[in-house]
Amino acid sequence: MKILLASSEVHPYSKSGGLADMVGALAKFLARAGHQVGLVTPLYRGILERFPEIKPFDWNLDILLGNTHMKGGVFVHEAAPNLTIYFIDHQPFYNRAGLYNENNTDYPDNAERFIFFSKAVVHLARYLPWQPELVHVHDWQAGLVPALIKDHASRDGWNTAPPSCLTIHNLAYQGVFSAAKFTLTNLPPDFFQPDGVEFYRQLNCLKAGISYADLITTVSPRYAREITTELFGCGLDGTLRRRQDSLIGVLNGVDYDEWNTASNPHLKQPFTIGSITGKAADKAELQKELGLPIAPNVPLFGTITRLAHQKGVDIELGALEEMLAANMQFVLLGTGGHEFEQGFRKLARRYPDKCVVKIGFDQGLSHRIEAGCDFYLMPSQFEPCGLNQMYSLRYGAIPIVRVTGGLDDSVTDASENEEKADGIKFTEFTVRALAKAIRKALFLYDDQELLRHYRENAMTKDFSWERTAKSYEDIYQRLLK
Ligand code: ADP
Repeated sequence: MKILLASSEVHPYSKSGGLADMVGALAKFLARAGHQVGLVTPLYRGILERFPEIKPFDWNLDILLGNTHMKGGVFVHEAAPNLTIYFIDHQPFYNRAGLYNENNTDYPDNAERFIFFSKAVVHLARYLPWQPELVHVHDWQAGLVPALIKDHASRDGWNTAPPSCLTIHNLAYQGVFSAAKFTLTNLPPDFFQPDGVEFYRQLNCLKAGISYADLITTVSPRYAREITTELFGCGLDGTLRRRQDSLIGVLNGVDYDEWNTASNPHLKQPFTIGSITGKAADKAELQKELGLPIAPNVPLFGTITRLAHQKGVDIELGALEEMLAANMQFVLLGTGGHEFEQGFRKLARRYPDKCVVKIGFDQGLSHRIEAGCDFYLMPSQFEPCGLNQMYSLRYGAIPIVRVTGGLDDSVTDASENEEKADGIKFTEFTVRALAKAIRKALFLYDDQELLRHYRENAMTKDFSWERTAKSYEDIYQRLLK
């Protein structure tokens, strides 16, 4: 198949969260399966410096936003056989310190930035000489693409317009802007209605994708069910229920080329379930790096996260306040909400020899935390898929997760299946329930034989991308029918 993907972030070029990991891996594994894959993404600051092999493409963009023509360029990277990355260049929009925001404040022109991007994607879909057979876009930043394709097909003589698929990575981020921004899309007025892109008199870019994509996917089966309910629907559950027949949940895969413990440039000591001693060495290395007492027998807990309410960091703070009195250590790596940063910093001051808080984005450290920790805390309020719990499983850091979305789909608690248990689950979104789950972890740690059984289950669980890519191939087949 000839597939054009579009995403506002792609690992290894740009990343703020799981979206980048997922799209980077999807593209790679589709190409590896023999499909022709193009992937469109913005050319952010620093990408050309880090990837000097990226070259200008002989293509000038002239994109109409309302009444204004905006010029842009395209750069390309032949990243692998069958895989071409197209970088959309428009320096005033993308040459910035952040992807979407700075100092926790969204860029005021995000509507312009991603309407421009979405139009560039449609332009490539239409005019690339290899003629993509389908377009698969991700999240609100590319959400207008299906609407724009429909419009070009009906008004502008694009008879061979390809079908489109939208993947929702997180329904909580919808790209909602004032109605005035709708004029920048140049869509006809009949798109601005509640069955189209309108959301309470505003423009909603994700809703555009939900309304006009031929198929919609999200990143776990449970989340696909959850988002059609009022509780998780973020105001779009009605729209999603209308499209329920076209909504499919596919659990993300893990790119084990990168996320593995046997050969990993970020880790001092490799380890596998058959030769686990390296994990103890990585734990000692991590404790040393963090300035914690090097204590092989003290359970080390970790979290790597955006500091957002969604991630349950408020109940985590509460539970740790209480639980750090016990014999345990904790490390947090994260960025985001100022009040959460302050809260964790305060916790670290209160427990200086037990708790370390690193505010920042550090991929190498994220691998070392997964490898060095005994337990991984992920008490999300909701979680479309979540990748860190799957990475933790492979790294033998037993995940402690709340029963929601992809967390429920990927972790097995002893109450579900004692033989296959690989994590600890709790249901209520409360400090008390999380503290109880941490207490369970401490008991588990005291029973090294049982812990070894959990680790074996965890480290051998398989979320290979081959399977996830196969599910998307089936979805693409359905699109092309
Ligand atoms: P989300 O996409 O909602 O943020 P996921 O668990 O799906 O959550 O994916 C998060 C990804 O971002 C993981 O690869 C995780 O390791 C990474 N990540 C999040 N915060 C940081 C950070 N501060 N430093 C390094 N990596 C991070």
